[in-house]
Amino acid sequence: MDGNLNSRGLLGEFDMSESESRSKNFIEEIIEADLASGKHSTIVTRFPPEPNGYLHVGHAMAICLNGGLAREYNGRFHLRFDDTNPVKEEMEYVQSIMEDVKWLGFDWGENLYFASDYFEQLFEWAVHLIKAGLAYVDDSSAEEIREMRGNLTEPGRESPFRNRSADENLDLFERMRKGEFGNGEKVLRARIDMTHPNMNMRDPVLYRIAHAHHHRTGDAWCIYPMYDFAHGQSDAIEGITHSICTLEFEEHRPLYDWFIENLPVPHQPRQIEFARLNVTYMITSKRKLLQLVKEGHVRGWDDPRMPTISGIRRRGYTPESIREMTARAGVAKRNKINDLALMEFCLRKDLEEKAVRRIAVLDPVKVVITNLPEDTREVYAGPNHPAKPEMGEREVVLTREIFIERDDFMEDPPKKYFRLAPGQEVRLRYACYITATDVVKDAEGNITEIHATMDPESRGGSTPDGRRVKGTIHWVSATENVPFECRLYETLFTKEDPNEVDPSTGSGQAPSTGSGQAPSTGSGQAPSTGSGQAPGTFLDNLNPHSLEITKAFGEPALAAASVGERFQFERKGYFCVDPDSKAGSLVINRSVGLRDSWGKQSQRS
Ligand code: ATP
Ligand code: MG
Repeated sequence: MDGNLNSRGLLGEFDMSESESRSKNFIEEIIEADLASGKHSTIVTRFPPEPNGYLHVGHAMAICLNGGLAREYNGRFHLRFDDTNPVKEEMEYVQSIMEDVKWLGFDWGENLYFASDYFEQLFEWAVHLIKAGLAYVDDSSAEEIREMRGNLTEPGRESPFRNRSADENLDLFERMRKGEFGNGEKVLRARIDMTHPNMNMRDPVLYRIAHAHHHRTGDAWCIYPMYDFAHGQSDAIEGITHSICTLEFEEHRPLYDWFIENLPVPHQPRQIEFARLNVTYMITSKRKLLQLVKEGHVRGWDDPRMPTISGIRRRGYTPESIREMTARAGVAKRNKINDLALMEFCLRKDLEEKAVRRIAVLDPVKVVITNLPEDTREVYAGPNHPAKPEMGEREVVLTREIFIERDDFMEDPPKKYFRLAPGQEVRLRYACYITATDVVKDAEGNITEIHATMDPESRGGSTPDGRRVKGTIHWVSATENVPFECRLYETLFTKEDPNEVDPSTGSGQAPSTGSGQAPSTGSGQAPSTGSGQAPGTFLDNLNPHSLEITKAFGEPALAAASVGERFQFERKGYFCVDPDSKAGSLVINRSVGLRDSWGKQSQRS
C-alpha cells in the first residue's frame, strides 16, 4: 500500500447516485397499488425471527426491508418472535435479536409479539379445522408419513387414519394437549389433498407432540404448532398487510392462503417473497454459525469475523453502512450473491465522512533522527479530518526517536519506491522531511533501527526551495505514544462460497497472506482448519489467517479512546476500539482497509 493519505477518490467504483434515484422495487409497487385502491389504508410489516441463534447479515436485509417499508409508507413495523420450537430456542437469542434490530435503527415501539402468545388461539383454530372435517389426528410415525407423502412425480397415499370422525379427532387432539401421548405418537394433520402437485398441500402436519420446556410458556404445552400453521395466522392476528419472506417460502404460499381461507381469521395478510441476501465469503445459515461458535472456530457469536450483526457491529460497521448495503443490494426476485466489496465500500463511504483521522504504526521499526537533540519535543497540528475543518485538530508530537511502518523503508529499493530509503527523502506526515542515512541490524541481519537526518527548513511540511518530495509516510513518537493490540482480520473463509467443497482434496487451502499489511508478531489465534473433521465440510474452507494480532503504537490522542470509537488510521484503514479493551490496554480492530478491493477482485475473476 503506498502513500494514499486521503481515501477520497477510492470510492469511485460504485455509482453514488444509484440509491438515491433508484426506481421502485416490486414490493413497493404492490404496496402503492394496495394503498391507491383502498385495499389498505395503513400497511403493517413484520420481522419474524426464530430465536434459535444470533441474527446475521441476511436478516439485516429482512429487517431493513420490512422496517424500511413501514417507515416509507408511514405504516407499522412489528417484531415477532416465531418461537414455536421449544427445543432450540433461548432467551439469550431473544435479547440479542432485539438489540440487533434496534442497533440497525428500527423501532417496533409497542409492537413486540411472540407466536407463543397465540398458542391458545391457534389451538382453537385447529379445533375449528377438525370440526369442519379439515384436520385429523394421525397415529402414523414420522417415517410412515414421509413414505406416504409420495414425491414430485408420484402422488401421495392417504393415511389409514385420515377418515376418523370429527368427534374422535377432537377427543384425540384434546388428549394430545393433556399429555396422554408420548413424543411422536400422534400428530394433527390438515386434510387437504394427498395427490396435490404441491407437496406442501399433501396433508401437512399442523401439530406435533414435544414434551419440552418452552422459554416463555414453560410446561403449559406439550403440543406445538408447526411453522406453517403458526406463521400466517400470527400475521392475521396482528393485522399484517404484507408478509414479506424469502423465496424458499414461495412453495408454501398455497398453504398459507389455504389456512387464511379456511379459518375465521380477523385479517387477510398477503405473502410476498423476495431473494435472500448472500454475501461472498460469508455463511448465512444459523445452524452453521452455531457450529462455528460451539466448536470454537471463532471466539463467539460476536467475533468480528462472524457475519452476525453483533460480529459486524464489533468489527466496526455502522448501522448506516449496513442499511446502505441492503438498499444497494436491492430487492430481487432471484437469488444472487453480493460481493463483500459492496459491504466494505458502504462502510468506507460512511466513515470517510465521519471518522476522525489518527495515526498508528501497526508493524513498527524505529527511526532515530540523529541531528535532533535527545530532548526534542516539537508539536505540530494535524486536522482531525482533511476536508472538515469544523472537526478540529489535534497535536502531533515529534521526538528524536519515532516509529514508522517496517514496509515504509527499503534498504535497496526498486525504481518507483518513493518511501524511505538510504539517501532518499520523505515527508513525515504533518511534520518535516527526513533522509535515511544508515541502518542498524541484529545478528540475523534484520533491521532494528534506521538512522536519518531532518532538514530543519522543512518544518511544517515544505521547504523554501519548493523541492518536491514524492513520498509521505506516517509515524508516531517512539517515546510519546499509546501502545495497543491491533487485530487485523481477513475473511473467515478462503472461498467466495464457503459451502463449496473440493471433493478431491477434502481440505481448503489457505490463501497467501501477501497483503503487504503488518505481519503477525503475536499469537495469531487463527481458527483451526478443520483437520480431523470428516472430509468435505464448509469447515475445510476456514481461513487460517483470518486473524492476525500485532503490537502497534498509536499517537497520544488515542489515549482517550473509548469502546466502539472509530477512526481512520491514515494509510491503513478504518479501525474500531474493541470491547476487550481495559484501562491501559487498548485493543483495536481493523474494520476495513482503505483500498477498495473491488478492482482487485474483478481482475481476478
Ligand atoms: P433457519 O431457517 O436456519 O432457522 P432463517 O435464517 O430462515 O434460519 P429465521 O429466524 O426464520 O431464520 O428468519 C427470520 C426472517 O429473516 C425470515 O423472514 C427470513 O425469511 C429472513 N431471512 C433469513 N435469512 C435471510 C437472508 N439471507 N436474506 C434475507 N432475509 C432472510
Ligand atoms: Mg427460517
